[in-house]
Amino acid sequence: MAQRIVVLGRQGAGKGTQCARLVESHGIVHVSTGDMLRAAVAAGTELGKQADAIMKAGDLVPDDVMIGIVRERLAEDDIMTNGVLLDGFPRTTAQADALEAILADQGNELNAALNIDVPLDEVTARMVARGREDDTPEGIARRLELYEEQTAPLLEWFAERNKLMIVDGMGTEDEIFARVEGALGLA
Ligand code: AMP
Repeated sequence: MAQRIVVLGRQGAGKGTQCARLVESHGIVHVSTGDMLRAAVAAGTELGKQADAIMKAGDLVPDDVMIGIVRERLAEDDIMTNGVLLDGFPRTTAQADALEAILADQGNELNAALNIDVPLDEVTARMVARGREDDTPEGIARRLELYEEQTAPLLEWFAERNKLMIVDGMGTEDEIFARVEGALGLA
């Protein structure tokens, strides 16, 4: 059965790694809205022109724009057949409401929102260690702060609908993957 899954987690929590493992082992389609926007910026499309400055400022692209993009992507054949891992969407409760409506229109529903949980001090240490250019102490703190602000209400939104699954994101990649598969009933 194709699953429709939202993947949540702080930057540095290992979301990308775990998504790649799910793609590899279970053929689910990975959709990162950040990657889609970066591709649009690189290609110089209308969307890219609109998103560029917003992304550079670290702000959010307007909900109606994001919802339109995701609605179109979720209707494509690969996802209808193989399911989807949504990474970076929803970011607001308006986006979460829209996602629910989009899936309902398709006769589908969200299977789970998976939160890969790694404590704040640990993700901070990981980001400092990877030493990317934009990983200044202030930049890291700002992005993590924004995540808490934006995501706390979403965790509640999913929990209220009995969709929230929390996976301990501490341990080896294999250990965490086993927990992820277990939580999603894919083991
Ligand atoms: P990410 O790679 O998920 O961190 O996204 C990079 C940037 O793209 C974000 O800082 C936002 O500016 C924008 N973005 C990605 N996904 C969304 C979304 N669901 N809603 C609004 N803006 C988004």
